[in-house]
Order: sequence, then structure tokens, then C-alpha cells
Amino acid sequence: MSTQEKSIAKIATSGADVLPDYAPVPQSAYGPALNEQGYYVGRVERNLYWVTDGSYQSAFLTTKDGVVLFDAPPSIGGNIRRAVDEIASANGVSNKVTHLVYSHHHADHNGASSLFDKNVIRIGHEETKRLLLRDNDPARPAPEETFADRRTLKIGGERIELAWRGPNHSPDNIYIHFPDHDTLMLIDIVNPGWAPISMSNLSEDIPGYIAAPAIALEYPWKHFIGGHVGRLGTRDDITLHQQYMADIDASVRKALVSVDPTPFFQKYGDNPWAAVSALFDAWTKAGAAPVIEKYTGVLGAADVYTESTTFWVMESIRLDLGFASYVHP
Ligand SMILES: [Zn+2]
Repeated sequence: MSTQEKSIAKIATSGADVLPDYAPVPQSAYGPALNEQGYYVGRVERNLYWVTDGSYQSAFLTTKDGVVLFDAPPSIGGNIRRAVDEIASANGVSNKVTHLVYSHHHADHNGASSLFDKNVIRIGHEETKRLLLRDNDPARPAPEETFADRRTLKIGGERIELAWRGPNHSPDNIYIHFPDHDTLMLIDIVNPGWAPISMSNLSEDIPGYIAAPAIALEYPWKHFIGGHVGRLGTRDDITLHQQYMADIDASVRKALVSVDPTPFFQKYGDNPWAAVSALFDAWTKAGAAPVIEKYTGVLGAADVYTESTTFWVMESIRLDLGFASYVHP
């Protein structure tokens, strides 16, 4: 047996016994129940709809010329088609998907793009196109139509404002504003009712990630489509998320200046990487502890993911902002 096979066998035999327990998720984190096929489709405002499987979200506009789809997460997959058909037949409008707008290039939000036929016009940021051509995944054809900073779409009498405001979660993540539907779609920044998942929603640019909610709030809107979890968001969800991230920032800065690195380097001597690893853990745990306490019962999974997000915010504070940087005399 290889080391990997042994380790897989160990996980398989110990099973659920070794998995930790977590605090109950507040009821406010959950959305509407799913149907038998495993999805929920609902009206956001007028002819704008959203679809969820409880973890991922997609949205679509029914117009007089057909349907404009926003993201095609593979976990919802074939249910996107079912949701569109259901709404189109209930309202007596066309179910033909004519356009697909990509929020960003990630496979978990657009890996069902290829389910839609070749006549669909795909629209995305120019960086989304570059990244999709690079990654060459047949499930996600690159967009034919791109833009650099801003683009207004007028499709079937509906107005959609696309904007790229700098890198955040990914280099190409865009703001999708529906000015006539009081709605903003911004993916992988705020998970309404929940803590961000691993390392600030697996974000590449933390200063951009932290700045994004304030940009979101600059727009006028009432409904927020965040791309994840089983419910839509409100402006209060964005503010709560901002407070959570600000608390992590303040708490980890305190930890960075109060945990003394000396004993870590003394203990590990000629293995400085061991000292750095233990020091990262100590900073992270000290920074996260008060935030976990404050948000448990407020945001779902605050006790699951706050340490991971704190670690990533701490590294950004050190490396992007130069906080607590030491220059040898
Ligand atoms: Zn993403």
C-alpha cells in the first residue's frame, strides 16, 4: 500500500467519527425549500428570476426576444433549463436562451455553459475571455462579446449594466446591475447569512475583496444575488459582512503585534519554516477567536471558516499592506 492509499484507507475506516461538530446554523441563513428536482426558482423583481440548489445561484431575465441567463453553475446544471421552461410557460413567454453573461471565469459558476447551444451569445469581461482561452475547458466556451470597464446591454427592451471595478475574488469578477429591477448581482463576495468559505471565499486579491462590498453599496438596489447559499441578500447582509471582515482585520492586527515570535524561532532553531508555520497558526488563532465568539449564531458557519479567512486576511495585511513589517537595522 502506498502512503496515499494508507491515508485514504484510514479516512474511510474512521469515517464520521473523526469529523468535528459545529454550532447550529441560524435559521436566518436558509432560504426557500427546494422542489423534487432539487431546485427553487423565484421572482426577484418583475421579469428577473433567480434559481438556487441551496448552495449556488443563477439568474435570468425573460424578455420579449428570449431569455438572458446570468451564470450557469454546474451544480444546478440541467435544472437551469427546467427553471427557465417552468417560468416561461407559466408566463407565456419565449424560453429560448439567447444570451449568457459570465460573472467571472470560475468553473463552479459557469461549468454548465456548454449545456446551452452554440447560438447563445456569451458575454463577459475581456479577462474572463483570456482566462477561459488559457484554461481551455470545453464546458466553458470563451465569451464572444467582451468589454473592458463598462458595458450597457440592451436586450429585448431590458437594460443591464456590466462593470469591472478592479480585481477582487478573481481578476475578472464583474458587477451586474439591473437598474430597472432594483437588483445587483455580484458573485463570491458576500454569502448572505453565512461566513465566507475558505480563505475569504478563495479570493485572489484581498484588498479588492474587502473593498468590493462598499462598491456594491454605491449602486441603488434592494435585492442582492450573491451566487451562493439558498437565499437572496439585502443591504443589511452586505453591511453585516463588512463588519465581520473589519472585525477580522482589527483583531488580527492586534494579534500580529502582540504574539512574540522569539520563542517560536528558539524552539525550532535550524528549521525556520517550522517556526513560521507555528507562528502563522498562533497569529491566526489569536486573531480569529474573538470574531468566532461574536459571530457564532449570527452568521452560519462562523465557527467553521473564520480561522481560514483570518489566515488569508492576515497574510494580505502583512504582504499587501506591509503591516508589522520589520526592516533589519
Ligand atoms: Zn469564483
